[in-house]
Amino acid sequence: MSRPIYFDCHATTPVDQRVLDAMLPYFTQCFGNPSSITHVYGWEAEAAVKLARTAIAEAINGTPEEIVFTSGATEANNLAIKGVAEAYFNQGKHIITVQTEHRAVLDPCKYLENLGFEVTYLPVQPDGLIDLQQLQQAIRPDTILVSVMAANNEIGVLQPLAEIGEICHAHQVLFHSDAAQAIAKIPLDVQQMKIDLMSLTAHKVYGPKGIGALYLRRRHPRVKIAAQIQGGGQERGIRSGTLVTPQIVGFAKAVELGIAEMASESQRQFQLREQLWSILKKIDKIYLNGHPLQRLPGNLNVSFEEVDGSALLLALQQTVALSSGSACSAINTTPSHVLMALGHSEQLAYASLRFGIGRFNTLEEIEQVGKLVISTCQSLRRSKQYF
Ligand SMILES: *Cc1c(COP(=O)(O)O)cnc(C)c1O
Repeated sequence: MSRPIYFDCHATTPVDQRVLDAMLPYFTQCFGNPSSITHVYGWEAEAAVKLARTAIAEAINGTPEEIVFTSGATEANNLAIKGVAEAYFNQGKHIITVQTEHRAVLDPCKYLENLGFEVTYLPVQPDGLIDLQQLQQAIRPDTILVSVMAANNEIGVLQPLAEIGEICHAHQVLFHSDAAQAIAKIPLDVQQMKIDLMSLTAHKVYGPKGIGALYLRRRHPRVKIAAQIQGGGQERGIRSGTLVTPQIVGFAKAVELGIAEMASESQRQFQLREQLWSILKKIDKIYLNGHPLQRLPGNLNVSFEEVDGSALLLALQQTVALSSGSACSAINTTPSHVLMALGHSEQLAYASLRFGIGRFNTLEEIEQVGKLVISTCQSLRRSKQYF
């Protein structure tokens, strides 16, 4: 039996063969610990890490010293939010974030609330974008951090980072952005966007799982941070633990490929998405979630009225690998907090599909899946499996 077509690129992506090829020597021949300074095994690993660090820094217009490697974006978000809270609580205990953030931002914020911090969860407009005026009004004298994601993992919406950075900068509040879905897919520039901390991960952009980074601004301003993992003092003491050379090399290769192919690939994925939407919207009572254009090129998120969401996913799962909402919230049975923040009913939030179109998807797949979704939706409506 053939495997289903993969349309879940916001959950994870396969490692690109070119990335794997770059990683392989660092598992076997060049296996040294980058911290070993007394022999060539250490030196060659250290040299590879340095090159990778430089490539990742360049991709976001930062400097190599501003990159702290972590196990992924979850850890980078935890380090950024808890680390800033711990380093700046003398100046205030108020944090601003958004209702549609990933759990890896919301849960550290909840954790800090239990420790006596106050968190404002900004709502979003019906298109998923925050209201900049509301952000401005939420900033208080004791606000120390604003955390707004670059690209949403469910509805793909791209928040106006440069405008947010401008507001934060004017109020001298640190600006953190979770860019797990954005790195090497849309242009990111920490200078132009005035971003002080940014979370990255490799596995959403055809790199390996288990590696990511936190960008940490060193000048204008120099961001202080409290380490959340203590030990051997790697990464300037900010994140201890032996550096995972193969993953770091793969991360950099994945980012370099993503940047090199960004222009052509985003155009291609945008066309695939528009094609899929033009097929799907032929049926009635189906809605596009999130801003129609200010979104990741490969993201389409739609809600189906008068369809049972789990019946729809069940009927599709032999043919296409999809999810409703995020991979993480699929584990529990609550409706997507992102779709609820858009103002959906629980019923409609459940009856939603997230299409994550990626590098290896083709037009044939789009047409096949589009037709299947339509016919499944229609037959479910006909058989009144609704309620
Ligand atoms: C996937 C994702 C994360 C988690 O990243 P990991 O590297 O898997 O820990 C965090 N935020 C967003 C927006 C994501 O899409």
